[in-house]
Amino acid sequence: MGLFRLLFWIAIICAAVWLWRRFISAPKAARQAKRAQEASPMVRCAHCGVHVLQTQALKQDQHWFCSQAHLAQGTQSGDR
Ligand SMILES: [Zn+2]
Repeated sequence: MGLFRLLFWIAIICAAVWLWRRFISAPKAARQAKRAQEASPMVRCAHCGVHVLQTQALKQDQHWFCSQAHLAQGTQSGDR
């Protein structure tokens, strides 16, 4: 039964490599994403009220905006 044992060990090694690669790559990306979220808190757009990351938001005076267009339009939302 030498061939069976050889195939058995190949299967074990393949599974180990797959698990190792999955363990190395996946949590690293998740950790980086989590750290990015922790580093940049969410802020609310003063124009449309959508929540954006502080790093991606634009600040004018005391107000945050989700985009340059909303910063230009200001804090008033019901202007029609
Ligand atoms: Zn907005």
